[in-house]
Amino acid sequence: MPLLDASSLEIELRGVHKRYDERAERAIFSALDLAIPRGSFTVLVGPSGCGKSTLLRMIAGLEAISAGDLLFDGVRVNDKPPVARGVAMVFQNYALYGHMSVYDNIGFGLAIARVPKAVRHAAIVDAARQLDLEALLQRKPAQLSGGQRQRVAIGRAIVRRPRAFLFDEPLSNLDASLRGTLRAEIAELHKRLRTTTVYVTHDQIEAMTLADQIVVLSPQGLEQVGTPDALYDTPANVFVAGFIGSQRMNLLPVDATHAAALQALGAGSAAALVAAQVAQVGIRPEDVVLVAGDAAQVLRIERLGAESLVWLRLGDASFTALSTDRTLAPGCAVGVAARRHHRFDGAGRCVIA
Ligand code: ADP
Ligand code: MG
Repeated sequence: MPLLDASSLEIELRGVHKRYDERAERAIFSALDLAIPRGSFTVLVGPSGCGKSTLLRMIAGLEAISAGDLLFDGVRVNDKPPVARGVAMVFQNYALYGHMSVYDNIGFGLAIARVPKAVRHAAIVDAARQLDLEALLQRKPAQLSGGQRQRVAIGRAIVRRPRAFLFDEPLSNLDASLRGTLRAEIAELHKRLRTTTVYVTHDQIEAMTLADQIVVLSPQGLEQVGTPDALYDTPANVFVAGFIGSQRMNLLPVDATHAAALQALGAGSAAALVAAQVAQVGIRPEDVVLVAGDAAQVLRIERLGAESLVWLRLGDASFTALSTDRTLAPGCAVGVAARRHHRFDGAGRCVIA
């Protein structure tokens, strides 16, 4: 299999607007600017309904762009039909043909494109080998597990040698262990092919492990673009802070109720925070350290396995900490400290300390 490096696409959206209905009050996107570097693995995350599928479908050409430019390698492709775009999409529900064998499902796009039978055969066998489907080529989709069906859907995308892959929550229908396996296979595939990939998920682990860059979307539009580490370490605003991270970040308002907790957690006095325009302090549960002391009280504990999520009360404030201490129980008194704080202003923007 030749490396597709050279032909992998650079995708750019410039000032893109999208409205499903010209009379609709609210646009799904307005003035969206986004660069998807050649060969990157770009993950789109955001709450349900914020437009992730719409964005993929606009790139694929399955959905019209209301205004603005979609550029492939610097060339505007808004009006290019889907088949001419050279991108392949993989959906959550597999979208396989039930009456066709795995072999024919994988080769379907090539058959439609009138690729000669011998070339088609070689491509199908090659994809089947890469995806561990060789023994299943004569089966029908109904005779496959969910993970195998999604491999067939990926195989159908691979054989077309697309210049970009678009994945729309491809693993959402699978159980946790299969998700883990297929996640690793998709990462491996990208490492091998280096084909530009845009991948939608709501799974934190998929986003953090697969992405070169994560794009965080909200109903308001694009919130932040960056590497997984950058979004985790320096979220630009409260929305990203709350969205990225396996355990939700504690967000403590700077007010009388939280003043004692903020002081104990090393965030400073309420007066100093107010003077610095800080309206909320964010502390991740994994950054809350339990120490000797009795400032806080354990309210509730959720055992996660190696760690526990501990709900604490300090004065009238409550917040969570991650701890490996299995001797903790509701009612215990503990001291608290924080390794790291995130500061946000009244508009939810990160305040640089
Ligand atoms: P996501 O994939 O992030 O969950 P979608 O892109 O599917 O979000 O949808 C974004 C918004 O556009 C939603 O409010 C949805 O109801 C609306 N929408 C999606 N498809 C259509 C359509 N074909 N016609 C009208 N509205 C749509
Ligand atoms: Mg969607």
